[in-house]
Amino acid sequence: MSRAAGTVAFTTTIPVEVILAAGRRPLDLNNIFISDPRAAELVEKAEAAGFPRSCCAWIKGLFSVLRDRHRELGITAFVAVTEGDCSNAKVLKELIEREVGLPSTFFSFPQDRSVAALKSEMEKLAAFLGTTPADAEKSRQALRPIRRSLEELDELSWRYPGLVTGADNHRWLVSASDFNGDPAAFEKELHALLADKKAKTPEKRRDLLPLAYLGVPPIVDLYPFIEEKGAIVVFNEMQREFSMPGEFPGLAEQYAAYTYPYAAEYRFSKAINEIRRRGVKGVIHYVQSFCHRQLEDIILRRMLEEAGMKIPVLTLEGDKPQRVLDGRTRTRLEAFIEML
Ligand code: SF4
Repeated sequence: MSRAAGTVAFTTTIPVEVILAAGRRPLDLNNIFISDPRAAELVEKAEAAGFPRSCCAWIKGLFSVLRDRHRELGITAFVAVTEGDCSNAKVLKELIEREVGLPSTFFSFPQDRSVAALKSEMEKLAAFLGTTPADAEKSRQALRPIRRSLEELDELSWRYPGLVTGADNHRWLVSASDFNGDPAAFEKELHALLADKKAKTPEKRRDLLPLAYLGVPPIVDLYPFIEEKGAIVVFNEMQREFSMPGEFPGLAEQYAAYTYPYAAEYRFSKAINEIRRRGVKGVIHYVQSFCHRQLEDIILRRMLEEAGMKIPVLTLEGDKPQRVLDGRTRTRLEAFIEML
């Protein structure tokens, strides 16, 4: 299948290697939605189409991007992740089929992290896109150097706080879900950035308070304010997961090790190891309004206690995209950083 076969849009990280093997362009709808200067308007448009107030703003934004921009973005197929992400995505798939008429399919992450079940899901996705698991494995090998470079950038972020800002760490790692649609261009830009960072004499900034950011990527830009207040995010949990650090024997094993779609306990045990390793002094746990993941806050706090970690946690809830951080969030972040 040639690139002319178009762009494949999806609701959260899926095996991007399968899309690339099919000669298609991957597009993570979340990245398009949140980088749109009219993101708040996209949410309002979905509400005007009938989405209730009590539905997560990400889902509303994804719907509006698909409905209003699919032609301009060249989207010719849609993959909704159901098991392991969001039950809203099931209905989103039906809505998109009715309103836009795009060919679409489901992708499910097996909750027991079974490699055999993942292989079967990947086979279905490959058949839908017109490729094979063997070609997807070749794409995986081709992406490994880029993933290793992202790992290097992430290591620099915590070893030399300030050398890489929390916002840059977030932006690069979160983009690994689709490599901005063009892995070769992504790699070139990433290598230039790494070369620039490594050319500087790294210093350990003791004046910056190292923080961890846990939870789904934020719908508002928190990073500049955190740095303005003398702290820095040196661990972006889910964004790091999107970059899939580490070495794996195959594609299914790689996606079985990835934490985002699986149980909170598995996710947080990996995150707690990183919090320890990076010498983090405080944790920001971001939760999205109307998201089932809000309940995971309870598990996180229990697990930190069980691990004997007396690290302060600030739970922040975000609702709609905003250009400027609201007063309440600013006050809470400022008080948390001052307390630390
Ligand atoms: S933030 Fe939660 S509710 Fe919203 S799309 Fe993601 S998983 Fe679904």
